[in-house]
Amino acid sequence: MINASLKELASALAEKKISSVELTTLFLDRIEQHNPMLNAFVTIDRAKALATAQAADQKVGADRTALTGIPLAHKDIFCAEGWRTTCGSKMLGNFTAPYDAHVVEKLNAAGMVTLGKCNMDEFAMGSSNETSFFGPVKNPWDTACVPGGSSGGSAAAIAARLAPAATGTDTGGSIRQPAALCGLTGIKPTYGVVSRYGMIAFASSLDQGGPMAKSAEDCALLLNAMAGFDPRDSTSLERPTEDYARDLEKPLAGLRIGLPKEFFGAGMDDGVRVAVEAALAEYRQLGATTVEVSLPNSGLSVPAYYVIAPAEASSNLSRFDGVRYGHRAAEYGDLNDLYAKSRAEGFGDEVKRRILIGAYVLSHGYYDAYYLKAQKIRRLIAADFTAAFKDCDVIMGPTAPSVAFKFGEKSADPVQMYLSDIYTIAVNLAGLPGMSIPCGFDRDLPVGLQLIGPWFGEAQMLNVAHRYQQATDWHRRMPAAFAG
Ligand code: GLN
Repeated sequence: MINASLKELASALAEKKISSVELTTLFLDRIEQHNPMLNAFVTIDRAKALATAQAADQKVGADRTALTGIPLAHKDIFCAEGWRTTCGSKMLGNFTAPYDAHVVEKLNAAGMVTLGKCNMDEFAMGSSNETSFFGPVKNPWDTACVPGGSSGGSAAAIAARLAPAATGTDTGGSIRQPAALCGLTGIKPTYGVVSRYGMIAFASSLDQGGPMAKSAEDCALLLNAMAGFDPRDSTSLERPTEDYARDLEKPLAGLRIGLPKEFFGAGMDDGVRVAVEAALAEYRQLGATTVEVSLPNSGLSVPAYYVIAPAEASSNLSRFDGVRYGHRAAEYGDLNDLYAKSRAEGFGDEVKRRILIGAYVLSHGYYDAYYLKAQKIRRLIAADFTAAFKDCDVIMGPTAPSVAFKFGEKSADPVQMYLSDIYTIAVNLAGLPGMSIPCGFDRDLPVGLQLIGPWFGEAQMLNVAHRYQQATDWHRRMPAAFAG
C-alpha cells in the first residue's frame, strides 16, 4: 500500500479492499515510527485525521471523487481550520488557523484526509529546510543530507512513504528542488492557476501552490482538485476547468524538446549531467527531438529574484507586528518597542536578512537602481522564454545543480544557498509552469529532471512526464531504510 499510486489507492478504497480509516492509520503509524528521525511533520493530529477518514468512508455515490479517503500532508504554509499553522516560524508557533486556504478547502471537498502539517523553511525562505524554527528535516535517502527546501518536510514525508502525497509551494523552486533532492515528482503550475488565498504570503507575485507526489499521474489528479478560480485571490485566473490528466497517454512522437545552452554549461555536477543526458536519450527513444535554445538573460534570474522576492517579503511580513496574532514579546515599553521586540524574537536570521534587503531596495533613492531594474530584467527573462517556445514545445534541463548536500555545507554562505535554485527561479519570474521528475542517481542520491512549459502548458508537461515514467522506474524507487 505504501508504494501504491493514487489511482490504485482509489480503486482499493472503492472496492472496499481497505477503508480510509485503515489507510489513514497505516500512514499515521508510519509517521509515529519514522518522524522522530526525519522531522518532516511539525503537527500531527491522529483524532482529527481519523474522524475525517471515517466521514470519507461513509461517502457514497456522487459524494465520492477520485481522491476520496486518500490521506495527504499539507505544507505548514497553508492555513487549515483548527490546525496549528506555523509557516516554520516561531512567529506563528502558537497560531491556529481560523479558516481553510482555498487549496485545503478544495482538497477537503474532494474527500482527502489531512494527516498533518509538514515542516518547511521559515516563511518558505530557503533551499535546505535548515531555516525552520522547528529544526531541519532530514533527507530519507541519506539522513546526513538536506531534503531541499522550502517544501522539504512535504518531500521527506512522501519519499519515506509517510504520506502518499503532499502540498507544496514554489516561489523560486521550493516544489521542484526538494522533489529533485528526494526523488519525487512535483509541479509548480502557471502563476494564477492555484489560488493563494490562505497560503501565507512570501513574495506574492511569485508564490504558487502545487502538488508533490510519486508520479506525474498522481500530480495531475491532485492538480485537478487544487486548481480553480477563487475571487478571494486577486491574481487567481478565471479560466474554464481543465482536466490535467486528459493528455497523459498521448504519444510523444514529434515532441520538440528545447535545451537551453545556459542550463548545460558549467555549474552542474557531472553526475547530474550524466543522468539528465540519459533522460534526454530516453526521450529521443520515445520519439521526441531535441533542439538547442537560448535563454540569454537567465544568468540574471538569481540576482533579480533576490531583489524582487525580498522586496515583496518585507512588505508581506510587516503584518507580523505582535499586535494582531503571532508572537508577542513578554516585556516591552512603548508600541514601537513592542513591534521591534516581537519581530526580533519571532523571526529567524534568514527572514531578517530578507526583510532588511527588501526594505533597502524599496527605499527612496534605491528603488530605481535595484527594484525597478530587477522588474525590467524580469520582463526580459519572460521574453526569452517566449522566444524559446517558438522552437520547442517543452524545455528541459536539470532541476538543481547537485544532488542533496550535507547539513551545514551551504548554510554559512547565503549566496551558495541561493545558487541551488539557479535553474528554477527564472520559471517563477516568468510565471511559467515547471516540474521536476526523478531521472537517476548520483552517488546514490536522486537526480531531478526539470520540465518547463509555456503558460498553461500543464497538461502537456504532465503528459511528457508520464510517458517517461511509463518507460522508466526511477520514480518507483524508495529509500531502503524506510521500506519497513
Ligand atoms: N530557495 C528560494 C528562496 O529561498 C526559493 C524558496 C521558495 O520557492 N519558496 O527564496
